[in-house]
Amino acid sequence: MITPRIEINLDKIAHNTRLLKSLYSSKGISIMCSTKVVCGDTKIAKVLLENGIETLADSRISNIIKIYNSKINVQLALLRTPLVSQAELVVKYVDISLNSEISVIKELSKYAQKYNITHKIILMVELGDLREGIMPSDLEDTIEKAIAMQGIKIVGIGTNLTCFNGIEPDDEKMKQLSLIVKNIREKFNLTLEIISGGNSANYNWFMSTKDVGEINNLRIGESVFMGCETLYGKPIPNLFTDVFTLITEVIESKIKPSVPYGAIHKDVSINIPKFHNQESMRRAILGIGLQDTRISGLTPMLDIEIIGATSDHLIIDCKNQNLQVGNEIKFNLNYEALLSAMTSSYVAKVYV
Ligand SMILES: *Cc1c(COP(=O)(O)O)cnc(C)c1O
Repeated sequence: MITPRIEINLDKIAHNTRLLKSLYSSKGISIMCSTKVVCGDTKIAKVLLENGIETLADSRISNIIKIYNSKINVQLALLRTPLVSQAELVVKYVDISLNSEISVIKELSKYAQKYNITHKIILMVELGDLREGIMPSDLEDTIEKAIAMQGIKIVGIGTNLTCFNGIEPDDEKMKQLSLIVKNIREKFNLTLEIISGGNSANYNWFMSTKDVGEINNLRIGESVFMGCETLYGKPIPNLFTDVFTLITEVIESKIKPSVPYGAIHKDVSINIPKFHNQESMRRAILGIGLQDTRISGLTPMLDIEIIGATSDHLIIDCKNQNLQVGNEIKFNLNYEALLSAMTSSYVAKVYV
């Protein structure tokens, strides 16, 4: 079979989706499922929909258009604030976009009027992680302006933590968000039906909190696909953590010295060997490299060790494994490795 390939277990995705949906709904929280790590894969999108997800969310308009064109009947949300240059596409293909810039909302309003539709927005509030979001002190001003724009409906308030600076979505942050929401509702006569408190890092807050306050939505990707929360990277009980498997193939296997020999040129040799004896070892090369995935995010399922990689070669220490040319070698992937493998056109996607 073709390698490198990533095997995607759709049943495990279905299981994780159902379990997370029922877990979060036990405290009245709906989930939007983020498809960005799987590049808006339409087979996976269909599985998410069939297992109770009503809104799919992605950072990239190209992924959203892919899902839209596959005729899956689902609400589509754009996670990253729209690029001004894509405002027209966003209005055409996206039901709800997350926003933090009034100039962008103005563009959305322009195209919403052109197509005579109402585009829904969630306003993102900065609570300390310092990625996207309106500073709380500027929120009322932004809302005043956005309310006045035709074709735009503010349907919610959201925040995003832990993504850039690891700021924890704890009870204090969530209470702060709830308070902001209450004030806005009072002041502006807005319903604000979606209060989106965060992402897969909100799991520990959710499990421990006695009161979710106004929070009624989370945007979840990593927990569905990796089976983990993201604050500590711990598995969530009863979820599959092995939805994806990367399969590669041995293209060379030989007994070779463990240390390079000859004059080492300092600018070329970036693989400083960690072997200190000159003993020979079985080394294998796998037909995968930096152009296929994030090598540092791979964990071999066999007892072998990754020595290093170049664009197209992955070099391993076979240890006690007698690997032969043509053997398939399997790896678990972390989020970054999955992201790059799904993005690489050199890695085949196989559904099991
Ligand atoms: C990616 C993303 C999410 C989902 O994050 P996970 O860690 O995959 O759950 C949620 N919100 C925003 C704004 C995102 O960019």
